[in-house]
Amino acid sequence: MSKIILTGDRPTGKLHVGHYVGSLRNRVLLQNSGDFDEIYIMIADAQALTDNAEHPEKVRETIIEVALDYLSVGLDPAKSCLFIQSQIPELTELSFYYMNLVTVSRLQRNPTVKSEIQMRNFETSIPVGFFTYPISQAADITAFKATTVPVGEDQEPMIEQTREIVRKFNSVYGETLVEPEILLSSNKACLRLPGTDGKAKMSKSLGNCIYLSDPEDAVKTKVMGMFTDPDHLKVSDPGKVECNPVFIYLDAFCRDEYFAEYCPDYACLQEMKDHYTRGGLGDVKVKRFLLAVINEELAPIRARRAEFEKRIPEVYDILHAGSAKAEAKAAGTLSEVKAAMRINYFDDSELIRIQSEKYNG
Ligand code: ATP
Ligand code: MG
Repeated sequence: MSKIILTGDRPTGKLHVGHYVGSLRNRVLLQNSGDFDEIYIMIADAQALTDNAEHPEKVRETIIEVALDYLSVGLDPAKSCLFIQSQIPELTELSFYYMNLVTVSRLQRNPTVKSEIQMRNFETSIPVGFFTYPISQAADITAFKATTVPVGEDQEPMIEQTREIVRKFNSVYGETLVEPEILLSSNKACLRLPGTDGKAKMSKSLGNCIYLSDPEDAVKTKVMGMFTDPDHLKVSDPGKVECNPVFIYLDAFCRDEYFAEYCPDYACLQEMKDHYTRGGLGDVKVKRFLLAVINEELAPIRARRAEFEKRIPEVYDILHAGSAKAEAKAAGTLSEVKAAMRINYFDDSELIRIQSEKYNG
């Protein structure tokens, strides 16, 4: 069986370092590993509209930001098909049929959707489109026959929902769809990077992000203002590294070789953590080091972005060509789905013959 990747991002804001460690960095490694037959990376604008219906301009403007972020982290359109969700109508059609295979109570139990509803203060006025977006995600994944979905931990319930839909579809209509596997980062700190404010998740919608496109001075302000251990008041105080975003970011980004260059007092992150835990290491020193580390990681991304920013029409061409290729693949799956569901009336000469015989003997 072919190995196929499908993943993507909502164009609700520029991509941030949480996306990078949670998904983008891994995507580039997978892309360059040569282990996959097809890779689809989707800008999920239709999904973004489920909670931004009144702000289509925001979604429209953000498409290019996300595309630039993709290209600047090293996604290569020659290897990964970059496309825009709304340009593939087959995805909407698949969602409509999958809706019959999922109950309202099953959707209500989805923990990610539950917390997102709370975060957006929807209370009882939840848009139906938002409520059902896990079904549309199942359509996205299955349309490409994806075997592997590299995402952050918050997406786990969506992949589980997709697997249930696949099993249900295949048991009712016959073996048609492929059950995908989630691929999470093996680095625990990367599964759900917290915000600079210490909130559980760095998220475009919460404004607690370091963006991949932030210039050095913006990153400096954000890192130096980061939440740390609130009980670590004096340098001499013992500090906590667990649940301390500064150390979680270091877990996500730091490589030992950065110490020699930027903080030679320590050989590795564990030594720095031990000193912080014992007391005697101030937040400012740790933050300065983190700033250097993040800037090192972002430097090549910034350089590539600057190049692509000069070639905006070409970036739209990449998305246009990617969308055409993605549509062809999704159309193939939709035909199979319709045949399995027996709603392919005009392709079925047997049906026409039998009905004709019934009426005419
Ligand atoms: P929104 O608030 O609009 O939902 P978001 O920041 O959650 O935006 P998405 O586009 O929903 O971003 O998610 C894109 C991908 O990035 C998903 O795979 C998601 O799991 C991952 N991701 C998002 N935020 C983080 C994070 N803080 N840490 C790790 N991975 C993340
Ligand atoms: Mg999200």
